[in-house]
Amino acid sequence: MIVILLGMPGSGKGTQSKRLAEKYGFQHLATGDIFRAEIAQKTAIGVKAQDYLKNGKLVPDSIVIEMVAGKIETGGKYLLDGFPRTIEQAQGLAEMLKRVGSAVDLVVFLTLPKEEAIRRMASRRTCSNCGEVFNTISRPTAVEGVCDKCSGKVVQREDDTEATAAKRLMVFEDLTHPLVAYYKSEAAFHEVDAAQTPAQVEAALSAVIDSAKASR
Ligand code: AMP
Repeated sequence: MIVILLGMPGSGKGTQSKRLAEKYGFQHLATGDIFRAEIAQKTAIGVKAQDYLKNGKLVPDSIVIEMVAGKIETGGKYLLDGFPRTIEQAQGLAEMLKRVGSAVDLVVFLTLPKEEAIRRMASRRTCSNCGEVFNTISRPTAVEGVCDKCSGKVVQREDDTEATAAKRLMVFEDLTHPLVAYYKSEAAFHEVDAAQTPAQVEAALSAVIDSAKASR
């Protein structure tokens, strides 16, 4: 089963994907996390991607498509988080899935008012060592600046600062939001209200996945 979580930055795709991957046994494929790891390791992809991430811009489609294609295997059960982000990536995804005899089964769009997305990004903090996500309002670390899980340094992501976050939302509207119309005609499509509590969003997403599984 191939599931795509669509949503603006700050809508909770990462948090929910981690929960659902664990619950249903999906492989969680988060392109943003992959890029951050590549940048930390100073790999060739990381070097190519770093300025785009820093400036809140999308990494060029060709780089992203090639990177994801290298991770998709026959029979894989994937939860895609942050990919595709453009129509061209969606087409690239369809092709790479076709090559392994698969297709997108379900697309869920996490909806959220823009002001709330900005508020969430401004209060989000991330462990620079293990990637665990905290929030100064809803999930602060026990000791300020120290990760509860690995004791790594917890910081604000460079692209979560106000100016870059606003830019990322514009990029979402221009390039990623058109995927809503695209997938409405291409795959099973659902919307979930991401302004609810994380537990409520998880329950709503689980209900959608359960019903998609039952109808397969
Ligand atoms: P995220 O962690 O999903 O918010 O992604 C952080 C940043 O990584 C984005 O602002 C982009 O610079 C880059 N990125 C992640 N996924 C993609 C993608 N599918 N296409 C292009 N750039 C991406």
